[in-house]
Amino acid sequence: MTEFVCNSCGERYPENTKEYRCKCGGLFDLVTGKTTFDFDKQLSIKDLSLWRYEEALPYTGEAASKITMGEGLTPLVKVQDGLLGKAEYFMPTLSFKDRGAVMLVLHARKMGFNSIAIDSSGNAATAVAAYSARAGIKCSVFVPESTSEKKLAQIKAHGAEINLIKGPREASGATAREFVETNDSFYASHIYNPLFYQGTKTYFYEVFEQLGGRFPDGFIIPVGNGTLILGAEKAFEELQSAGFIHKWPRIIGVQASGCAPIYKAFKDGLDVVPQIESSGTEAEGIAIAAPARGEQILKVIRKSGGDMVAIDDDETLKARALLAAKGIYVEITSAVNYAAYLRIMAENGGKLWVIPFCGAGIKSS
Ligand SMILES: *Cc1c(COP(=O)(O)O)cnc(C)c1O
Ligand SMILES: [Zn+2]
Repeated sequence: MTEFVCNSCGERYPENTKEYRCKCGGLFDLVTGKTTFDFDKQLSIKDLSLWRYEEALPYTGEAASKITMGEGLTPLVKVQDGLLGKAEYFMPTLSFKDRGAVMLVLHARKMGFNSIAIDSSGNAATAVAAYSARAGIKCSVFVPESTSEKKLAQIKAHGAEINLIKGPREASGATAREFVETNDSFYASHIYNPLFYQGTKTYFYEVFEQLGGRFPDGFIIPVGNGTLILGAEKAFEELQSAGFIHKWPRIIGVQASGCAPIYKAFKDGLDVVPQIESSGTEAEGIAIAAPARGEQILKVIRKSGGDMVAIDDDETLKARALLAAKGIYVEITSAVNYAAYLRIMAENGGKLWVIPFCGAGIKSS
């Protein structure tokens, strides 16, 4: 039994609700009947995709059998001593967004929605477009005009209707929300719908399994809307309540200096994230000036004993070239993670860190 619950007033909404947020304006959390699961039992499951963790997921691999494309269980690649990179560019649409997209589209299909809408800076829309095509659901995407042509071509190939929206990233979100309010379309938002984090949490389950039942000392995680960080929160909570970990690993959140509202709020010691004016960045995938779940993201980073860093575009481009020289080609946004690692290493040294290679190099120019 799955329900959505408002994180502000506590009102509950049934799993087939078309609302994407509470009438009071609050955001949804997810309540599932599942509180804990048997990790050892999972390890005996042969499925080599994220569905091996079905005990911890709201849907089973069987339920997903018509739309799965083998997403998940990406390799953990040694970058250098003390650093592993999780190669999310091995995903069906070449970014980690497939983890969440498969959950949202599966949910839409189970609830009988025939039309889906999403706004994104590119990768989330690509992922939702691909899984919608697979599920036979009509998909409308709302993306900024500045979106990489490579991502647009990918979205178009899956037959989604593309709406190019003028103005900052937020304008695409506003237009998508107007659309779902006036059309019979399900808002498959990676920002508003908490089912997305059920998918992204598997990133952390996988690392835990791949390291033989432990976590690294720290995770470096890029933050735009925080979908990977919010997956970390779920995974850490669940593995802790199941007794597999006693302490959370540290989370270092990374933003681009040109658009770093969460970095700023963190450093200012705030509990909420005031909207900022973006001064622009090449890291299009994390350029979010007004993150809807900012408050929650700050809490997660602080709870992990973590920190925030902001990376300039020239550091990002340098890090991208350094990775490429090691045989690893990531999209520009994804190079912020390696740049952050180089900075942290210089300041802290030692220990084992994991960074995500969120998206493939051919997704950006
Ligand atoms: C989505 C994405 C991120 C993380 O952004 P969130 O909005 O925090 O989920 C980072 N890098 C790339 C390439 C992405 O597509
Ligand atoms: Zn509410």
